[in-house]
Amino acid sequence: MQSRDGGRGTSPACGGTSRVPGDRPDPTPDAARALSVSGYHGRPTPASLVVVHFDRRQRARRAAGGLAGFWGAMVVSVFIPIAHFVLVPSFFGMGIWQFVRRLRRAELVRGAHGTCPDCGAEQDFELAGGLRFPQAVQCRTCHRGLTLATREAA
Ligand SMILES: [Zn+2]
Repeated sequence: MQSRDGGRGTSPACGGTSRVPGDRPDPTPDAARALSVSGYHGRPTPASLVVVHFDRRQRARRAAGGLAGFWGAMVVSVFIPIAHFVLVPSFFGMGIWQFVRRLRRAELVRGAHGTCPDCGAEQDFELAGGLRFPQAVQCRTCHRGLTLATREAA
């Protein structure tokens, strides 16, 4: 006797594929922000922001790490004469401030990803100037200065 072990994947088709109205259309508006890289050739290439998402556990770990860093500095600054009157409460407050901030932060912009218009090297650009655009970046391959700017979605 042979029992055929056919992998019949009969999934019950539930016909209720409905989008929930009122659901957030784009939870990451910054991730969709289109950028462009322009170099000497005047032909800008598209780029996009690189956004890292944190789940609840990662957020808690980042928050605890930030708190430990500031409060570690606080403990050290206790031993600095006179300055500790300022440093200890400052580090204490900054630790709590960053703890709350990191606990709330679900995503972090790590940089931008794009292609160098001059040499064609695909790469991640570091955003030294934060999220202010346009800002100057440098190609890691040809080391030319490039400009990262927001691209209007036309
Ligand atoms: Zn380049």
